[in-house]
Amino acid sequence: MNALELHSISKSYGSHRALDNVSLSVPTGSRTVIVGPSGSGKTTLLRMIAGFEFPDTGRLTLNGQTLVDSTHEVPAHQRLIGYVPQDGALFPHMTVAANIGFGLASKGQERQERIAELMDSVALDARMAERWPHELSGGQQQRVALARALAQQPRLMLLDEPFSALDTGLRAAMRKLVARLLADAGVTTILVTHDQSEALSFADQLAVMRNGRLVQSGHPLDLYRYPEDEETALFLGDAVVMPARIEAGWAHCDLGRIPVNNHRNNSSAQIMLRPEQLQLTSIVPNSAEGSGCQAVVTERDFSGNTCTLTVELQPLNTDEQPGRSLLVRSSGLYAPPTGSTVQVSTIGHAHVLSEP
Ligand code: ADP
Ligand code: MG
Repeated sequence: MNALELHSISKSYGSHRALDNVSLSVPTGSRTVIVGPSGSGKTTLLRMIAGFEFPDTGRLTLNGQTLVDSTHEVPAHQRLIGYVPQDGALFPHMTVAANIGFGLASKGQERQERIAELMDSVALDARMAERWPHELSGGQQQRVALARALAQQPRLMLLDEPFSALDTGLRAAMRKLVARLLADAGVTTILVTHDQSEALSFADQLAVMRNGRLVQSGHPLDLYRYPEDEETALFLGDAVVMPARIEAGWAHCDLGRIPVNNHRNNSSAQIMLRPEQLQLTSIVPNSAEGSGCQAVVTERDFSGNTCTLTVELQPLNTDEQPGRSLLVRSSGLYAPPTGSTVQVSTIGHAHVLSEP
């Protein structure tokens, strides 16, 4: 069953169309991530779901209840939706405990116990209860904001770039903690971010947003492997894109013959491979072996566990121009040095992109 349904939501500010005909179904219990560059309309969309903005046209339902349509609007405080805004927005003049307990109806002992339980669920030490927001790290502030939203027992949780203020190591740890916490609580979640690796890792449903429009949605692995167009391909990660002639399930291109995942015939198209689908084998220059595609390593970007290489395909005849440059992802430990000649082979299928 779908918890939230967005039907053709549009919103303009003056002549600027911030949301353009957005439709999306969010399954109950899912973690849906909306990913898009800054300014693509992500915050506007979340604020609309929360009830702080209203669409010009379109309809929004939650568990079958209409929240907004052309005739009526359910106000934010009646929606039972948890919203953690981009900056966390803790009340600066309230302690951690007071922030978390802000919307709790209970009093006295019961209230104290509920606050302690919520702090425990977001892995905050009980001794932090009397601290002030400015005495907390970014990660701790985010967890207080999350606990405050969870205190309302929301039907839906909205998280706006919740990890963007944290440094890399902490970000991955927080992401896992929050994912597990929300799964345990069984809360349907929508998270928005501009960070593609965060999106791919957190989502079980991913939707890509661009210029106020949802351009593609689905399982993260499918979007990564089968992006609709080149722009989406490059937004979700590095990609090798090149022209090819498609014939009987094969792409004929500068890398030779590669199987493709769709069977248009005798047409020319752009194909895409992820850099980790290219494999390099070292060869001795000018030797007879290695009849396939040869390339020279022109750049090497070492980042520990992986290494991103740029290789330049070598022409078959020495009087031709040097060939296309390609990105290759290799293990950091066994990456060939710049200047070395390598053989390039591919793994798996190439994906045929749609025309822009
Ligand atoms: P994102 O969260 O993806 O960075 P936003 O939803 O904040 O994007 O903004 C989308 C676009 O709408 C931006 O161009 C922004 O300037 C514009 N916008 C957002 N809110 C308002 C507003 N209240 N008034 C005018 N323009 C706005
Ligand atoms: Mg935003």
